[in-house]
Amino acid sequence: MVTCNSLSLFYGRHRLHPTRTRSSCYSFPSNALPNIDVAKVLQKRSRRIEGPKKSMEDSVQRKMEQFYEGSDGPPLRVLPIGGLGEIGMNCMLLGNYDRYILIDAGVMFPDYDELGVQKIIPDTTFIKKWSHKIEAVVITHGHEDHIGALPWVIPVLDSQTPIFASSFTMELIRKRLKDHGIFVPSQLKVFRTRKKFVAGPFEIEPIRVSHSIPDCCGLVLRCSDGTILHTGDWKIDETPLDGKFFDREALEELSKEGVTLMMSDSTNVQSPGRTMSESVVADALLRHISAAKGRVITTQFSSNINRLGSVKAAADLTGRKLVFSGMSLRTYLDAAWKDGKSPIDPSTLVKVEDIDAYAPKDLLIMTTGSQAEPRAALNLASYGSSHALKLTKEDVLLYSAKIIPGNESRVMDMLNRISEIGSTIVMGKKECLHTSGHGYRGELEEVLRIVRPQHFLPIHGELLFLKEHELLGKSTGIQHTAVIMNGEMLGVSHLRNRKVLSNGFIALGKENLQLKYSDGDKAFGSSSELFIDERLRIALDGIIVVSMEVCRPHSLDSSVENTLKGKIRITTRCLWLDKGKLLDALNKAAHAALSSCPVNSPLAHMEKTVSEMLRKMVRKYSGKRPDVIAVAIENPAAVLATEINTRLSGKSHVGGISTFRNAVHRHERENQSTKTQIRGMIEDDNDAEGLLPKEDATTSNRAASNLSETENGPEDAEIKPVKRNKWKEEEVKKLIGVRREFEDTFQLVKGNNVFWEEISKNLLAYGINKNPRQCRSMWTSLLQKYEEIKNENREERWLYLEDMEKVLSDIEAPAKI
Ligand SMILES: [Zn+2]
Ligand SMILES: [Zn+2]
Repeated sequence: MVTCNSLSLFYGRHRLHPTRTRSSCYSFPSNALPNIDVAKVLQKRSRRIEGPKKSMEDSVQRKMEQFYEGSDGPPLRVLPIGGLGEIGMNCMLLGNYDRYILIDAGVMFPDYDELGVQKIIPDTTFIKKWSHKIEAVVITHGHEDHIGALPWVIPVLDSQTPIFASSFTMELIRKRLKDHGIFVPSQLKVFRTRKKFVAGPFEIEPIRVSHSIPDCCGLVLRCSDGTILHTGDWKIDETPLDGKFFDREALEELSKEGVTLMMSDSTNVQSPGRTMSESVVADALLRHISAAKGRVITTQFSSNINRLGSVKAAADLTGRKLVFSGMSLRTYLDAAWKDGKSPIDPSTLVKVEDIDAYAPKDLLIMTTGSQAEPRAALNLASYGSSHALKLTKEDVLLYSAKIIPGNESRVMDMLNRISEIGSTIVMGKKECLHTSGHGYRGELEEVLRIVRPQHFLPIHGELLFLKEHELLGKSTGIQHTAVIMNGEMLGVSHLRNRKVLSNGFIALGKENLQLKYSDGDKAFGSSSELFIDERLRIALDGIIVVSMEVCRPHSLDSSVENTLKGKIRITTRCLWLDKGKLLDALNKAAHAALSSCPVNSPLAHMEKTVSEMLRKMVRKYSGKRPDVIAVAIENPAAVLATEINTRLSGKSHVGGISTFRNAVHRHERENQSTKTQIRGMIEDDNDAEGLLPKEDATTSNRAASNLSETENGPEDAEIKPVKRNKWKEEEVKKLIGVRREFEDTFQLVKGNNVFWEEISKNLLAYGINKNPRQCRSMWTSLLQKYEEIKNENREERWLYLEDMEKVLSDIEAPAKI
């Protein structure tokens, strides 16, 4: 298991956070691998440490942590913002001295532990800082990991900055920018392969490469200080379906001209041999579709227009109608259609709603969802929750994609669901239903040998892949190679004499770039701004919220216990409560911690004491470290209640009503917000209802019985709801009696909640468990009934008439609540 896990770490999209402290990876001139503890580096929690960690090593290296800026030094400069040390988020600054262009601006998709994140974006804050130096954006192709960040990157650049891309790619960009409301037509410049154009300090010549989306280019960038080849994403397809061949000749010519620096795609450096052609996949699709008796469903990457064309061709040859199920299929097809390169006329597609009008054997349904994306068509169908597409056991599913590392379990769950329905699933290497868009080792080596650059820098891949690609480069005779990571700047000089052994690579510093996160429509920012770590921490360790209405003892009587008390309410989420035992323990601990605070403690001190105590307790109990949020508020009402109690119980030697009044005034002085509340309660009887806690009878009953409340996640079955209990006759009579005893107090405080809390407490002493709101509500009903009978002179026998008369006869005008 351990081996399996650590292996999967390498294949997962574990990003090496650019802000992490580590030794430099420059590998010139030696070929020794830098001394990096990869296992440690790949620990997700540590890689997201933000800000420079000021270790000893760092303080020594601090000088290096500034980018070289200026017009002397090495003339060619490479600064990867993303894509090195990770798969995704490709974004690189290439410069001639201080003039730069940005190559690609891609996104990366989140890992399982980046909860709620939809996209990860390169450091736009840094790009903005350098925007005055960035003269153009050049896009190699239209995959999300190359264009997905444009909606965030373009706004931070100068508004005149041109964006260059091939025509199909530009269709995708155009749609994206329109969707984000930042479409400025004059900014977009379409280029064609082998047609040179000028972008910033470079003359750029795009060259055709094969990949898995149309119109992919490598870039030759020339300036007086040298020539750079950036391959983009590529493979060599000897029999491309669209007849667009990988441009070997261009590379051969370039080799003769001399290449100062080559940067090449490292994605499949670990796969020996060569990739299969798309035409092999097309044949396999046709074979399987011809053999199927019933309905055929395919799933594939929507951006692979050639693959869509292969499915269409098979549909035509087998007399099946083509159906698209899933939005992104149309997005890419429409772009290809607008660009005049679509193998399918969108108007010939059968609508997914109309599939019931056709016999299953006449249909071929293409779906999105090869990665089991939650809302994709195939995934919804696997749950049986797609209205349009109901899978059956007669269906044949052709899985014409690969499972992207990180999605394995999700995809497997989906395929299991489909298996349960009974559909036949065809997938796996031997079926030849998929081929990669990234060259295998044999192709990488071939191109290295053709180009024979002076310097080689592997790009587009995990650190492990970059290093392996570097070794491959060295094995072809390239002397000067380097592996750098995001945020590390490299200077390159053209070597005039190939025999010169001095290295043309120079490290030019590194910067703590920060990943940016988008978690939906609006939220965008750094990991700390979007609390990415906190989301995971709470999910794993839980959270406790403690609210405390603190009552400070103000009794002048020293015989009264002098400790802090409070009404404490504990709410937990994502926390194992051991069938309520832990919750009970937390409650007791919170009360104990609160009463351990000096009576005059500031609220912040109480919050700190209680939260520390609860954190310690959970850690001891279950080893978890939950977040504890404690909020303490003064509860003058509760203090007043204590005062009243003291007075009424006859224990107070001082004061009577005047003590009570003093207590009110004292609190008015002490707390402005409390003052408003008290005034509200005393002066505005009608509004008093609004100040009552908005809780149902269930929690209130609990509160009244033990002065503390708990609230748990739905998993906690221990605390059962208590139904609102009805008043019994003797209870109503007791209420009337107690209310009469308290008439003096009532005259002082009128509709104050404190008053009804006292009534409630006094009833409790008689074993009657009614909360203040219930008491007050019952009293209001009694008054109304009494007034009705009196006003209408009804000769009605009413159970409580006599009792009510006793109370109200001494009062000039019946009190209104
Ligand atoms: Zn790509
Ligand atoms: Zn890519």
